[in-house]
Amino acid sequence: MTSSQPDAGTGGGGHGHGDGERSGCPGREKTGDRGRDRAGAPRWIAGVDIGGTNLRVGLVPLEGGPPGVIRRERTRAGQGPAHVAAKVADMLRSAVGEVGRGGVAGIGVGCPGPVDRGAGMVLETPNLGWRHVPLRDLVADATGLPVTLENDANCAAYGEWWQGAGRGAERLIGLTLGTGIGGGIVLGGEIYHGASDAAGEVGHMSVDFDGRLCACGSRGCVEAYASGPGIAARAVEGLADAADSSLAGIARTDGVRVTARMVCEAAAGGDGYARRVLAETGRILAVAVANLVNLFNPDVIVVAGGVTAAGDHLFRPLRDEVRRRAFPSALGACRVVPAELPGTAGVIGAAGVFKGAVYGGV
Ligand SMILES: [Zn+2]
Repeated sequence: MTSSQPDAGTGGGGHGHGDGERSGCPGREKTGDRGRDRAGAPRWIAGVDIGGTNLRVGLVPLEGGPPGVIRRERTRAGQGPAHVAAKVADMLRSAVGEVGRGGVAGIGVGCPGPVDRGAGMVLETPNLGWRHVPLRDLVADATGLPVTLENDANCAAYGEWWQGAGRGAERLIGLTLGTGIGGGIVLGGEIYHGASDAAGEVGHMSVDFDGRLCACGSRGCVEAYASGPGIAARAVEGLADAADSSLAGIARTDGVRVTARMVCEAAAGGDGYARRVLAETGRILAVAVANLVNLFNPDVIVVAGGVTAAGDHLFRPLRDEVRRRAFPSALGACRVVPAELPGTAGVIGAAGVFKGAVYGGV
């Protein structure tokens, strides 16, 4: 998942019955016949992951396990939230048609935040261009199903906790490196939201108090260095001293911009400069990760996002630097691992949030 903006780690339903929910328990009449199979029992929860680029809708089995089907389309947020809600309804209908049988208990929506979970509102998403959007009710009206709303980065962390690299961990912190750096904290099986739904902003921990300007307005945030655009910008800045890098040729090509993916591909192809950029990325990330290790003493830190495809080029310097910085007693209890659910953690986590809110846990 890419959580690109200062997404206050926030979100949907909360735990316990129907906290802030549109229509309460799936067992209530509001769910309607649409949510039932012939036996009367829903078999699926829909997870919706709204990203700046892609919109994903998946059907996650009520009892857990991988999605039965995932649909992906362009989000086209510029056409407005009602249009996106209608598209969610279409994609859900199509997904239900594909799995053939079983009703849908409800929908968990993950959206870049910050969001007001209680009101079901998306407060502000610069990368979607939305402000104060009653997204939960829009999706509920479009589908006739109960809906929870949660921050997308929290969903991704929750998905990795429920079914991915952090399965069952008591204390998990998730980082997703995308257009921004999203984060989520899962403690005792529940998303930690903080006093005002704003917890989990790991991307905006400073790694340099007077450093690069961040999209959030602060300086030196790890997001400004290790997000996709941050990696690309650092790579381009260093090219003056790396004329032999394949990235130098790309940067000189009209109409082509160096991306983090290109840096990863160049590194995989043996480009020494690209490998140094990734190693430095790992060390920068390690400052943030070491802070998290020392502060939270977690069991696992899950790192997600396209750049994790760089594998050891990123993770070896990351782990080495964390070892130099974190308290050994804390680090000894903590795994720092790549995510296991690329592209699906947000959908799975959003469905899990709905399940937690309505069924009291996953
Ligand atoms: Zn920031």
